[in-house]
Amino acid sequence: MTKNIKIDEGINIGDGSFTIIAGPCAIESREQMEKTGAFLAKLGIKIIRGGAFKPRTSPKSFQGLGLEGLKIMAEIKAKYNLKFISEVMDPRDLEMAYDYIDIFQIGSRNMQNFSLLKEVGKTDKPVMLKRGMSATIKEWIMAAEYISLEGNEKIILCERGIRTFEDYTRNTLDFMSIPILKEKTDYPVFVDPSHGTGRRDLVLPASKASKALNADGIIVEIHPNPEKALSDGSQSLSFEEFENLLNQLM
Ligand code: PEP
Ligand code: MN
Repeated sequence: MTKNIKIDEGINIGDGSFTIIAGPCAIESREQMEKTGAFLAKLGIKIIRGGAFKPRTSPKSFQGLGLEGLKIMAEIKAKYNLKFISEVMDPRDLEMAYDYIDIFQIGSRNMQNFSLLKEVGKTDKPVMLKRGMSATIKEWIMAAEYISLEGNEKIILCERGIRTFEDYTRNTLDFMSIPILKEKTDYPVFVDPSHGTGRRDLVLPASKASKALNADGIIVEIHPNPEKALSDGSQSLSFEEFENLLNQLM
């Protein structure tokens, strides 16, 4: 039986519904988040994503706005009555980020950052644990145990693809992790069709497959102007494309 994770009054993950979380890869500006927040609220989406701390491959790439980004989100959240999921990379940032973030995201690169897992495990906030890009399902489940053993059972697992020899896609989405995790654990299972494919044109089929396999939801990257995005533009949907995705999934 899948655990129901209450995010807020009337907002649940794992209650049998298919939850759609959307937002940009990174928080870039107030204007960008204002447009995104207004758009999602209009569509009835309740949880917005956006990275303030970005784990970029190159240290010279945009690293995120940090606290400034979180402050922008505090305004947008309040204005549009949204809940906010965002990645934390460093245990030293947790205290500062705590008041801003409603769901802590642990990124693929940190799935086995055990000190970070223990720290979020000591908090009372839901944690989305993304699959390490080279992690087996067993390793992923044990990473979740690092969180739960500290007392925090509000865990959402997110399949985001693994590295294989295939290079038509950024990662290979391992869809079979959904039924396997459903059998082995009680945690809600999400899919990230954006990082999982790296390709805007594959986000829709990957989302449909996730729903057909009884995932509890998806987390999708969108941007008011994907061509201008500071990160992951090629896998980000425009607002129009996202509306089409919603219509096709409903
Ligand atoms: C993200 O969701 O912003 C992200 C960096 O994804 P992942 O950790 O799965 O690569
Ligand atoms: Mn991204």
